[in-house]
Amino acid sequence: MSWLVQPRLVNDPFSDPGVYLDFRFGRRAILFDLGDVGALSTRELLRVSHVFVSHTHVDHMAGFDRLFRLCLHRPTPLTLVGPPGFAAQVEHRIRGFTWNLLDENSVGFCLRAMDYDGTVLTRAAEFHAREAFARRDAVPPDFAKGVAWSEDEFRIESVALDHGIPSLAFALREVIQVNVWRGVLAEMDLPPGPWLNEAKRAVRLGMPDDHRVETPCGTGIELGDLKGRALRVAPGQAVVYVTDAAPHRENHEKILMLARNADQFFIEAVFLERDRPLALASHHLTAWDAGDIAREAGVRHLTPFHHSARYLSEPDVLREEAFARFRTYEREPLSA
Ligand SMILES: [Zn+2]
Repeated sequence: MSWLVQPRLVNDPFSDPGVYLDFRFGRRAILFDLGDVGALSTRELLRVSHVFVSHTHVDHMAGFDRLFRLCLHRPTPLTLVGPPGFAAQVEHRIRGFTWNLLDENSVGFCLRAMDYDGTVLTRAAEFHAREAFARRDAVPPDFAKGVAWSEDEFRIESVALDHGIPSLAFALREVIQVNVWRGVLAEMDLPPGPWLNEAKRAVRLGMPDDHRVETPCGTGIELGDLKGRALRVAPGQAVVYVTDAAPHRENHEKILMLARNADQFFIEAVFLERDRPLALASHHLTAWDAGDIAREAGVRHLTPFHHSARYLSEPDVLREEAFARFRTYEREPLSA
């Protein structure tokens, strides 16, 4: 199976939370959360097109300055999505700097910030470098309910969890996966090349079978013909990110809905089960909760993170507790 994105934790599990989702093609990346991003190279950060921020506690947002500063010199926009009040907080952050050196000759960089209320995007603001980052209100995109972002190839689903304040959890879902049988392609006398991307796109968009796909040589081919022979369509990749959630039933149910059958599941494991009173007091999940939810959701790969510093002297205990619970009923791994 060829993944759309390669996700990984930005930091070790005791440091600021965050996942970097690197696209296999297209020199592009997405971030879930924007805490300390010192571990990411300049090149990696410049690939980031979208950041989805769970909430604005400092360990989830402190990396904004570095990313924003790097982007000042690029023409492609940066889009940030966060919980209610987020666009205003981003504006305040920007207003904390002086921009007298920017004018209409500056690089045409644009920052977009949007509020997501757990169901829909409710507010959007744009900040253009050429306007010294004066706020411009914009109309937020109108996606389906529960979707914080949507493109041809994937969507970002999101729910608001309770962390004393709303904390957004995210799932990147590839719309559909289209793979090419190279051998069959050769038998059909068709060369590989960029035209296949157009063909895959047509499949993802649900174009009819008689839709003609341009080929480099010849008169093109009907999509149905290509689909029936040289393309293999499979369910797409799902990457789920859950952090900062109180350990109660309502959150548990919401996380299960989001994480069902995820390929890669990143979930906080802040305290040991024996310290549950601390988890309750600070609105965080225990490692036991993390493993329990992962098992119930039937995920393939579990990555626990956001460990409390109180366990630094025994760094593996949280991971061990989460996996002990996860593996209670672990299924055979699906073959790739
Ligand atoms: Zn946190």
